[in-house]
Amino acid sequence: MISQLPQPQFLPTTRKEMETLGWDELDILLIQGDAYIDHPAQGPALLGRWLTAHGFRTGLVSQPGWKDYGDLTVMGRPRLFAAVSAGSMDSMLAHYTAFRKKRSDDALTPGGRAGARPNRASLVYTGLARAAFPGLPVAIGGIEASLRRLSHYDFWQDKLRRSALLESKADILVYGPGERPLLELARRLSRADGFSRDAISGIDGTATPLNPGDNIDGQWLELSGHEAIEQEPRLLVETTLALERLIHQGGRTAFQRSGGRGIVMRPPAEALSTEEMDFLYGLPFTRKAHPSYKEAVPALQVLGLSITTHRGCGGGCSFCSLAAHQGRRVVSRSKESIVAEAAKLSARKPAALSDVGGATANMWNAACLTKGECGRVSCLWPSPCVHLSASQADWLDLLKSIAELPDIKQVRVASGVRCDLAMNDEKALREFLQNFVGGQLKVAPEHLSESVLRLMRKPGQELFEKFLSAFERFRPDGQFLVPYLISAFPGCADNHMRRMAEWFRQRGWKPRQIQAFIPTPGTVAAAMFYAQTDWDGRPIFVAKTDRARLGQHSLLTEGLTDSRPGPKAARNNSRFRRSGR
Ligand code: SF4
Repeated sequence: MISQLPQPQFLPTTRKEMETLGWDELDILLIQGDAYIDHPAQGPALLGRWLTAHGFRTGLVSQPGWKDYGDLTVMGRPRLFAAVSAGSMDSMLAHYTAFRKKRSDDALTPGGRAGARPNRASLVYTGLARAAFPGLPVAIGGIEASLRRLSHYDFWQDKLRRSALLESKADILVYGPGERPLLELARRLSRADGFSRDAISGIDGTATPLNPGDNIDGQWLELSGHEAIEQEPRLLVETTLALERLIHQGGRTAFQRSGGRGIVMRPPAEALSTEEMDFLYGLPFTRKAHPSYKEAVPALQVLGLSITTHRGCGGGCSFCSLAAHQGRRVVSRSKESIVAEAAKLSARKPAALSDVGGATANMWNAACLTKGECGRVSCLWPSPCVHLSASQADWLDLLKSIAELPDIKQVRVASGVRCDLAMNDEKALREFLQNFVGGQLKVAPEHLSESVLRLMRKPGQELFEKFLSAFERFRPDGQFLVPYLISAFPGCADNHMRRMAEWFRQRGWKPRQIQAFIPTPGTVAAAMFYAQTDWDGRPIFVAKTDRARLGQHSLLTEGLTDSRPGPKAARNNSRFRRSGR
């Protein structure tokens, strides 16, 4: 693949930067709620370079003021469309803690200050774009819009909200990875003589408003309507499961009625091929914050010299927003492309790679070996699927090839690893622990109660204990295991938390990474939290009030002695973990 436009050092953010590139207008304006870091882990930076590579002049406005639309107009009206994203995470998740308290910092803003983007930023930015450029098509995307594409439970308001497409009044909503849908939209609008409904309809990976003339009695799948879910909350669980199937199996258009209107959701866009992934991640990212910033953007430290090896996760955990966004199918970059990126980074001093991974690091190159229909909700739960290929030896070989590069000083895997896959190959596990993990290995048993683990779609306690014993045998001196745990999950009662606390107490082990469950929109777990039923419609206990949730949380965080040497209390960086917990 060859870039059709020269890649700029940064996407233009001002008129002057456009003129430097010789651009008299933009084709596409991207608007986002995070600071601009030109890093492949940041969606708008990635999409901007992708669209530019395909010949569309793309500019970026980051964290615009929202009292008026002035910041959106600095580069003029774009020729084709504006595309809005709240940022790398749902803006409500970025702004509020698990107990709905306002956060005082924001790692995705220069100086780490809170308050640089509005709540529900994608809705607010869409309104600004509409006002700034009347008649211009506006697309809404990113993880916030993607996971709120249909009726969803909003934890922060404790209510069911309508599709972000209808709430924002955008023309089109892009869900999942945006490369293909946005490129198709750009091509169609470029060909069309002005904006038309036809030009934006029928693009895979998008949702559009239901029109009166739409033929809905054909092959389309009707999902429960918004009002029906309000009447009968268990329908949200059913709808979310249907959505999971649609994402995984593709093939069908679905629609949902909502307040006299409706949403048409096309099948997911075809995943990028390995060749396309190599091209995309091989674009010349500077990995720096935009030079106009006077203060550092803290997230850059976390992103560091990290390399993304793949997208998607076959785990199917019921609470994971990232898998709900990227899907279960793993799409990997080639070994050559990853090693070539590492070689470029080896010029940095010190050339210490902070993370080589993805949603789940040891799923690089994981593949489904059957072409048949898949009716499972997870490739690993309740037990690993016989059709799943995920060679741990190949993964180790990739890491070793990077470590052998002449100027690379260190290679670390900070992304989570799946214990069940790691246990398949003890030799690879030993080498991994000895060479690619620092002082701490993060694993995510998430809980130790079988009934709660079932609702999470996570393997049982027995597997975690087996992994612990393997870890003890293979770990180098000074290395510790950091278990990530979740309190107040749907189906989790105080006695489950007490039993988990007791398990740790008996081992003199004080767990430090405990996240009170946050029902992130669009996940099966959030639907269960709202409906207070499991996926079979059976009632489950849910600690719903903040008081009840805090009570569960405290059962694990307080009153435990710490006789086992462990890491100093690390700041909970779960907001930046690649796994969407
Ligand atoms: S058949 Fe097995 S490996 Fe393939 S997608 Fe389904 S669960 Fe995953």
